[in-house]
Amino acid sequence: MQKIYIAADPQDAQIIKDQLEGGGFDVQMRGQTLWGARGELPLTIDTAPSLWVADDRVDEALTFIRELEKNLKKVFPVWECQGCGETIEGNFSCCWNCLKPQGGS
Ligand SMILES: [Zn+2]
Repeated sequence: MQKIYIAADPQDAQIIKDQLEGGGFDVQMRGQTLWGARGELPLTIDTAPSLWVADDRVDEALTFIRELEKNLKKVFPVWECQGCGETIEGNFSCCWNCLKPQGGS
């Protein structure tokens, strides 16, 4: 098996894993049990959750993830707060800076 994805956190890993499995890949998640020990362990890619697939599916899976990330960005476009002009990631529905909801004036 080969590592095809290193996630920012276990939730992120789970989302990508679900999508890959939905796309017909056999996926293994590793490293998520070390997540709770972060803070005690040095921060390295070994303590981040990672996703693994069989060697012969690696190229396919990488293409799948690239498409997926494009789609996820389409679903959650970055927006600009009307209150303070802050640029907000699309997965937030209100401004983290001034708490104004998206589209609010
Ligand atoms: Zn704001």
